[in-house]
Amino acid sequence: MKTLFYSTHPFEQSFIEKAADPSISMTFTAEALNESTVHLSQGFESIAVFTADNVNAEILEELAKCGVRFIALRSVGFDHVDIKKACELNIKVANVPRYSPYSVAEHSVMLLLTLIRKLSTGQALMEKNDFRLDQLIGFDLHGKTIGIIGTGAIGEVMAKIMHGFGCNILGYDVIENQALKVATGITYTSLENVCKTSDVISIHCPLNDATHHLFNATLFKQMKNGVYIINTARGSIINTTDLLAALQLGIVGAVGLDVYEHEKAIFFENHQDSIVNDQLFNNLRKLPNVLITGHQAFLTSEALQNIAETTHDNLVNWSKTGVAKNELSL
Ligand code: NAD
Repeated sequence: MKTLFYSTHPFEQSFIEKAADPSISMTFTAEALNESTVHLSQGFESIAVFTADNVNAEILEELAKCGVRFIALRSVGFDHVDIKKACELNIKVANVPRYSPYSVAEHSVMLLLTLIRKLSTGQALMEKNDFRLDQLIGFDLHGKTIGIIGTGAIGEVMAKIMHGFGCNILGYDVIENQALKVATGITYTSLENVCKTSDVISIHCPLNDATHHLFNATLFKQMKNGVYIINTARGSIINTTDLLAALQLGIVGAVGLDVYEHEKAIFFENHQDSIVNDQLFNNLRKLPNVLITGHQAFLTSEALQNIAETTHDNLVNWSKTGVAKNELSL
């Protein structure tokens, strides 16, 4: 089967090639899937896409016209795909339902510790040969309350790590993780209660209609003053304009983001010779208590290997049996 890999990045290509099955004929393009690149899929029965690709209804219609019958997502998240439209067009879509959850959870911990212990400020001072400590006072995580929003694969690992730090764990999820209760003593409660009581909130739920802008001005107002927020899930779970206001008012003490609401126009590309023309993003990253990484939480060799293997498994399974393993449906 011929497969076109959109948005292929140098960091992943060797993992994809290593996991390859001879039955799949792979073509790579660095181009992201959008209105102007969809024609590249002409003659391919399947495509493999990344989180920055746009798989909306119009593009799916064009993909169908080009002959695409199967889409392999190189991600857990599928908020960039119109699944309903894909079903209508009988295009099968499969994701990578699970890959190293440690990659993302450990990155979340790194963001949190970097903020708490003022690592970026300390490094900047050290560059200037200023070894004074007065600006660098942090706080212990031990004994603090951490609220985990979404206790699936990644949220579970995050809860366990924080439990190891000696934190009290609160959880908010539509499904309670019973094994996690035993392992960490997590207490499930309402989102509002998590917000009222947590010193740190870490977001690990998917982006969907129920979670879009879940974190907004109303919720920020209910939080403990100076709360730390970590978001490695999806940018649009937070209303970024409201977040900026909450940071400026001191309601939010610091924020660590691996994802940003309008990241598609910014992340994964080199903008050194151009201007990042996003005022909200620029205002946000100017603040000293904001730490942003460019959607790299998944970027460990273990996770890349898992993603490549499952993507190939999905492609091979579809090509050999006509049944889509890890199929996404409504
Ligand atoms: P998962 O499906 O294992 O867990 C998600 C959890 O969220 C589940 O327990 C689910 O019940 C819960 N949930 C669903 N809707 C909810 C709602 N409305 N309110 C509260 N909880 C809700 O997924 P995962 O593997 O833990 O990944 C979580 C998210 O992390 C993904 O959807 C993806 O968007 C994001 N992610 C980011 C990166 C990155 O590199 N930054 C990498 C992988 C995944």
